[in-house]
Amino acid sequence: MENLEKAISEIKKALPGMKLLENEPLSAHSSFRIGGPARAIAVPADVSSLSKICCILKEHELAPFMLGNGSNILFPDEGLAELFIVSTEKLQNLFLLPDGAVYAEAGVSLARLAGFAQQNGLKGLEFASGIPGTVGGGLRMNAGAYGGELKDVVESVVTYYLPEQALYELTNEQCDFAYRNSRFQRIGGFVLVSAVFRLEQGDGEEIAAKMRELNEKRREKQPLDLPSAGSAFKRPEGHYAAALIDQCGLKGFRVGGAQVSEKHAGFVVNVENATSHDVYDLMIQVRNTVYQKTGVPMEPEIVILPPDYKLEDHGPAVPRHRITFNAAGAEES
Ligand SMILES: Cc1cc2nc3c(=O)[nH]c(=O)nc-3n(C[C@H](O)[C@H](O)[C@H](O)COP(=O)(O)OP(=O)(O)OC[C@H]3O[C@@H](n4cnc5c(N)ncnc54)[C@H](O)[C@@H]3O)c2cc1C
Repeated sequence: MENLEKAISEIKKALPGMKLLENEPLSAHSSFRIGGPARAIAVPADVSSLSKICCILKEHELAPFMLGNGSNILFPDEGLAELFIVSTEKLQNLFLLPDGAVYAEAGVSLARLAGFAQQNGLKGLEFASGIPGTVGGGLRMNAGAYGGELKDVVESVVTYYLPEQALYELTNEQCDFAYRNSRFQRIGGFVLVSAVFRLEQGDGEEIAAKMRELNEKRREKQPLDLPSAGSAFKRPEGHYAAALIDQCGLKGFRVGGAQVSEKHAGFVVNVENATSHDVYDLMIQVRNTVYQKTGVPMEPEIVILPPDYKLEDHGPAVPRHRITFNAAGAEES
């Protein structure tokens, strides 16, 4: 705590013009509309200010918590004594490279990225146009929908690697993308800065029509009128989380102000001033009931904070890869 206060005061001195929100409610930065105050939220104007913040934090043995649109996170009601860095206000560069690939910074929304590709007659990102996240958040979890995933279109990613305080460009293979997972999720220390997307030439009108069709499906099936963080659980191998939850009679199941959506059982929605504890308790009960009745373990897709709160404590362990980083790149061990 003392270290954080010292770091914040040094950051203010080093970057006097930078927007720094103190004791800001995290609920304002979360699509769930849940979360107490963050000690500070920094909005760096560019990559060099971002690295400066990271550098000061590292000197105090701290790391920042990156935040995109907050559309995949559950923050605690008690708030967090952390420094968050928000990408969505400033890290917004988006342009075509001379070879026709698309360059996008971490704070660019996936909707804007997909729209930009469509306007330039580039296909491959139609699936992403309705995902309410950013490039940074989307890459970390390899966001996907309707058969498409970011891993299919990412050529390379630039990341600031905190332990070495250096920028690295990783190829698609080095990002080690998997279903709703990536190297950036399995090991800490990666601040995603930008990415290059390689897309195919297509017809602008057809691309726009595909995007409209997928977004219409989304509106039909998903509870977009209520605050949520998207699918609460990842798809267990060979199953659909929503179907399992429905099959166990949990559609509409409620804890406090949190509810398993009546429209789509894969979503947990905030129907009435839900607290983070309502959502934790609901997710634990859903997970345990599904496991008891079907034998299928489900892993949360939502990032649940604080990180030491693990739904795995309440069910069978989910195997994890251990990965270490060396000079040649991040390697599994
Ligand atoms: C209504 C609704 C529908 C959704 N539909 C889908 C869907 O179809 N498919 C899908 O995959 N997801 C879906 N989601 C979930 C969510 O939109 C995606 O996971 C999205 O990619 C998260 O991006 P974000 O910017 O909001 O990330 P955040 O929620 O802000 O952050 C998520 C994680 O990424 C990390 N992060 C964010 N930015 C960076 C960065 N620059 N560097 C390093 N780490 C970073 C955060 O620290 C956090 O751990 C949906 C959510 C909602 C609310």
